[in-house]
Amino acid sequence: MNKQMTISIHDIPEEGLIWEEEVSANQFSIFTKILSEEEIHFLSPISVRIQIIPRHGLFEISGIVKVKMDFVCGRCLDVFETSIEGKIYISYAKELPKIENTTKGEIELSADDMGIFLLKGSHIDISEVIEEQIILEIPFSPLCLDQCRGLCHVCGVNLNTQVCNCSSRNLDLRWETLRKLQRY
Ligand SMILES: [Zn+2]
Ligand SMILES: [Zn+2]
Repeated sequence: MNKQMTISIHDIPEEGLIWEEEVSANQFSIFTKILSEEEIHFLSPISVRIQIIPRHGLFEISGIVKVKMDFVCGRCLDVFETSIEGKIYISYAKELPKIENTTKGEIELSADDMGIFLLKGSHIDISEVIEEQIILEIPFSPLCLDQCRGLCHVCGVNLNTQVCNCSSRNLDLRWETLRKLQRY
């Protein structure tokens, strides 16, 4: 457990507290793993600002994580920089509340069902909160622009910055293939 990123629940006053920190991405083993497998990099520390408020046996956490990263565009293969920003809304509970079910009596919901994390001991591990949110925000197939034109399938030029004459020739080639097929 990383000391810089844990808060003892005994240190949280009734009115709550604000936790603000810049943390380096290489403190997270999960990010080091992603970075070694994917072509993405963190270009800044992760800035975190959260508020923790104790309420009805829960610790409600809300806030923002921000970080600058670079990705490889899935269409044009250019490397581009972008800031990702995630909003945090989660709660920690010392134990899970039980919910009355009229037909089956008492049932227990899993923490996942309720979006609630279970406290391990008396500490909130902020790194868990940060990891979860950053991973959610990392795009599955990043695009430099929504309207990125990608690469020409024929000559490979980046169609965002260059023009080529393949599209017309490409069409001819397709007709040619069709003609060949019709011969059989
Ligand atoms: Zn692109
Ligand atoms: Zn082309």
